[in-house]
Amino acid sequence: MESKVAYLEDQLEELRENGLFNTIRTIESPMEGRIVVDGKPVINFCANNYLGLANHPSLVEAAKNAIDQYGIGPGAVRTIAGTMGIHNQLEERLAAFKGAEAVITLQSGFTANLATIPALVGRGDAIFSDQLNHASIIDGCRLSRAKIIAYAHNDVADLRAKAKEAVDSGEYNRFLIVTDGVFSMDGDIAPLPELYEVASEFNILLMVDDAHGEGVLGKGGRGIVDHFDLHGKVDIEVGTMSKAFGVVGGIVAGKRVIVDWLRQRGRPFLFSSAMTVPDVAACLQGVDLLENSTELVDRLWANAERFKRAMQALGFDTGKTQTPIVPVMLKDEKLTQEFSRKLFENGVFAMAIAYPTVARGEARIRVMNTAAHSDADIDEALGVFEKVGKELAVI
Ligand SMILES: *Cc1c(COP(=O)(O)O)cnc(C)c1O
Repeated sequence: MESKVAYLEDQLEELRENGLFNTIRTIESPMEGRIVVDGKPVINFCANNYLGLANHPSLVEAAKNAIDQYGIGPGAVRTIAGTMGIHNQLEERLAAFKGAEAVITLQSGFTANLATIPALVGRGDAIFSDQLNHASIIDGCRLSRAKIIAYAHNDVADLRAKAKEAVDSGEYNRFLIVTDGVFSMDGDIAPLPELYEVASEFNILLMVDDAHGEGVLGKGGRGIVDHFDLHGKVDIEVGTMSKAFGVVGGIVAGKRVIVDWLRQRGRPFLFSSAMTVPDVAACLQGVDLLENSTELVDRLWANAERFKRAMQALGFDTGKTQTPIVPVMLKDEKLTQEFSRKLFENGVFAMAIAYPTVARGEARIRVMNTAAHSDADIDEALGVFEKVGKELAVI
């Protein structure tokens, strides 16, 4: 008899044959600007550790102290075991920091989307979703069973036309517009003020997933709603503490009534345990740092600006980024793989991103700038980009 998992072996084989099998590298050091990958020291441009908090001494200390005081695990889901004080404290601090009415935290940004979207809309409703939205938004939309109406990326006119058509059709009860705040492959920002206009025009709920903007955009990293000064206007701002905050955990910030509803009906809140004690304590310390100083956020932007300018001066195409994510557009898939491999050989760890993550012919090296990089790190990396760029006749 054929093995029950033969079809999986076949599919894995197919991935290997097509060069699509993802071999996950092992990191043998803390997450920093320089790390050791598979035994090799490299400058790290792969992490979303925007502010260098993943191994920040004060976050590490806060986590250790909290373990001494509260232990490690939350024991069960918060609605059953009760919630620990520090989880409430984190939510209150995040709400104050972001200027939101209320915040609920979840295990991750991914589960924040799975909790939020199906709690807001369901069968008989419709969701307008940017065509390039993150997988967790797409999954949240699917779980809701609402009709998903994709609009062209950041195309407000297309959204407005589709909203008008769907509203006029009389086929749906309720509507939701959902978008990434920062699109992680290009580093471009959603036109939130214009999306808000469409949402207001048709009285539609507006939700933004600001995973790559949390701790990056806005005053001192307060996020995309602060960046555009849309406090009280965007209904739901999802975020994550796994990127700039350097830890793990999901955030939903917005109107109190929405947060209250998620505490009653957000399924990953009701049926999955909370963040662990050290996670929460480290995030609290992260909020403290950001509230007291914009130094790390300023450094992140200065580093990114310096890297981007120098790359452009070298003759590289850095795409349409508006954030510290810098896509080095090489277009050709094979060239991009080869470029990334050579960067690594020369001590620079930066991901090749190719089809199917981005469109065919749009392959790029994605450089994640962070506050954890020193001027020397950036200069050395630029030297390597120049060397490899010349070797491969890109510049
Ligand atoms: C990274 C990311 C997530 C997932 O966040 P986690 O906290 O790692 O689960 C969700 N949405 C967007 C837009 C992201 O970029």
